[in-house]
Amino acid sequence: MAERIEIVNARMADSGAPLSVRLDGEQIEWVGPPEDMPNDASITRRIDAQGQVLLPGFCDSHLHLFWGGVTLDQLDMLQITDREAATSALRAFASQHPDEQLLCAFSANYTFLGAGTRPDRHALDAIVPDRALLIMAVDGHTAWANSAALELAGLTDAVPHLRGAEVVCDTSGAPTGELREGGAMDLVQRFAANGGREGICMAGDEPAASASDRARDKATLRRALATCASYGITTAVNMDGNLYQASLLGEMAQAGELPIRVSLPMRIAPHHDAARIAALIEAAQQPPIGKLSFGRIKMFMDGVFDSWTAYRTDDYPGREGDRGEPLFTPAQFNAICCQADAAGLQIQVHCVGDAAVRATLDGYQAAQQANGARDARHRIEHIDLLHPDDLKRFSQLGVVASMQPVHPPGSSGLPLEPTVSIIGRNRWGDTFPWAALHHAGVPLAFGTDWPTAPLSPFNAIHAALSRQPWAPDCPDQRLPLSEVLHAYTAGGAYAVFAEGARGHLAPAQQADLVLLSHDPHDLALDATTCHATLTICAGDIIHEVSR
Ligand SMILES: [Zn+2]
Repeated sequence: MAERIEIVNARMADSGAPLSVRLDGEQIEWVGPPEDMPNDASITRRIDAQGQVLLPGFCDSHLHLFWGGVTLDQLDMLQITDREAATSALRAFASQHPDEQLLCAFSANYTFLGAGTRPDRHALDAIVPDRALLIMAVDGHTAWANSAALELAGLTDAVPHLRGAEVVCDTSGAPTGELREGGAMDLVQRFAANGGREGICMAGDEPAASASDRARDKATLRRALATCASYGITTAVNMDGNLYQASLLGEMAQAGELPIRVSLPMRIAPHHDAARIAALIEAAQQPPIGKLSFGRIKMFMDGVFDSWTAYRTDDYPGREGDRGEPLFTPAQFNAICCQADAAGLQIQVHCVGDAAVRATLDGYQAAQQANGARDARHRIEHIDLLHPDDLKRFSQLGVVASMQPVHPPGSSGLPLEPTVSIIGRNRWGDTFPWAALHHAGVPLAFGTDWPTAPLSPFNAIHAALSRQPWAPDCPDQRLPLSEVLHAYTAGGAYAVFAEGARGHLAPAQQADLVLLSHDPHDLALDATTCHATLTICAGDIIHEVSR
């Protein structure tokens, strides 16, 4: 029989008013002031919230469960900002992992060796000369290998020419150690203890997987999901779907092993042929399996600013004629949009530069013209730079903005440079425009893009509440706490067509809840104190610490 849980002595986030909630199995049965709660003898568990704030469970609208799970074993370099700190952290990590063939670190800032120094193999050799080392940049689009790692991967002189990826070489043709995009990073990553499994979902293809690979990969997903639960996340949009990950998660969902709800968009890449695209669209049309749902596809329109791969409407500062490039031709992209939209699917596209946003809106418009208008809620992910002319097109096309408050340089441990110079001073006012989009009536869904940023929603909410403009003439993009929480709960639910089922504390909504250790208003000042003391998903307690 389903548990009947009662949570008493909780508080509402906005007003601080006392609140009690009763759950009947997977659903919320009753919500209201404690004095109005009817007596019920069939309650199986009563939880005293001790005055803590109760929210609908968080929805992280953009993360990478598998890659995030892999990084739980790697060195996190996000907080490292100079050579000295990098040296001691990397050397300590190397001595703690004496048997690793390839040492892996992640979330490194582009300036982790100090401002103005771009990492290369020589700099890494000076820190770790005798072991192979690979450091992934914070955005996941660039990595740096030392000489031992390049040697391990056979990247000594002649390097392969890759589509949409690059082993960067110096003028003599020798690799510098910089690897751009998954196709290049894979060449080295595959020597990691986990076989470079972080790349298996990112590249958009199907990895080879033995029975033991499957077991290990499921264990990685399990750890990632448990980490989500520990932060109060009850819905995760896992952005790198392929048929392999769909089958792993499908088996886990079938067996009731998913602690939280997972939405899995199927990733379509530019190199996919018609048969592959058709297979992915068909997979995306399958009905939900337990807590696992489909219904959407994901594409990348461009890269990131730090490697000059974001596709923009104007030239990069100091690089005449260079605006980056779209990863899809307009004809190719629009055709996929029309095909997926006709199949009733939602489309989600990574767009960092403003030309990428524009090309994606063009694709959504083409789909609407071809198939007729419907409540499609196609999404754009990231939107680091938006051309003002395109703002109103979001509402016209019913597009959802899926954004990550942890991404603006200057927030959440990210340095301003080199990114703000690569963007260019004249465009600072058009960056990460979540308040501008909100005020234009565009639905917002927040997330972290974990592991490119910490998974903690509290850290992300802090970043959203405390973001500072880069210059006095830049607009203030902060939103009030109520809107930030909305984008992390109801906004996330809307963005996966689940607003009727979750994202609100109301009867008949799914019993997905989180209790916070501290008043979320305090998050404007402090990211680290607040944590989840209780997470409930579908009526099951999936995380609990002492209150
Ligand atoms: Zn992502």
